[in-house]
Amino acid sequence: MTPAFSLCVYCGSKPGADQAYAQIAHRVGLWIGRNGGQLVYGGSNNGLMGIVATATLEAGGNVVGVIPQSLVKLECAKTDCTQLHIVDTMQQRKLMMADLADAFLALPGGIGTLEELFETWSWRQLGHHNKPVGLMDFGGYFKPMLNFLEQAQQAGFINAHQMDLITVGHEVGPLLSELCLTHKAVR
Ligand code: AMP
Repeated sequence: MTPAFSLCVYCGSKPGADQAYAQIAHRVGLWIGRNGGQLVYGGSNNGLMGIVATATLEAGGNVVGVIPQSLVKLECAKTDCTQLHIVDTMQQRKLMMADLADAFLALPGGIGTLEELFETWSWRQLGHHNKPVGLMDFGGYFKPMLNFLEQAQQAGFINAHQMDLITVGHEVGPLLSELCLTHKAVR
């Protein structure tokens, strides 16, 4: 059956210092599966990445992992994904993930997550895609970054329109409904 939507999730390859991060990743995966959706992600079994994928499968959703050959061992590729694509480069990974997605969501994570979020957001403002981009500011994890973006806006380097291209939320249900059900992007 065709999934109701395809959500690309960027998140930490580590679990984070607080168990609450794992719980939010688990809830995101359950929400995707219960709503008949598909998760597109980096194909790792580690950290929040593995947790969101396992929860999506548990709830009956599709999971598409995309991982470069060089990271298959290093990041423990998740071999029980519905589909696991092994590609040659990081760039191919990101492009394939973006092509397969209707919308994007960043959860707490490290520099890989941040890089993917900012690239996807900048691609949106350049018109390379027209898909919703969401940020889960769980427990205020991203608050310092959001404060910095506000400062960058006041300094005249980011404008209000650019800020409008990212949807910031704090709770799983409302944010994922907004990204995946309300504003379904044109493929
Ligand atoms: P992290 O948020 O640093 O734990 O990384 C999350 C995921 O992002 C991991 O699967 C990394 O392989 C991936 N990642 C790290 N750097 C990049 C990059 N430059 N482009 C694409 N993915 C990356």
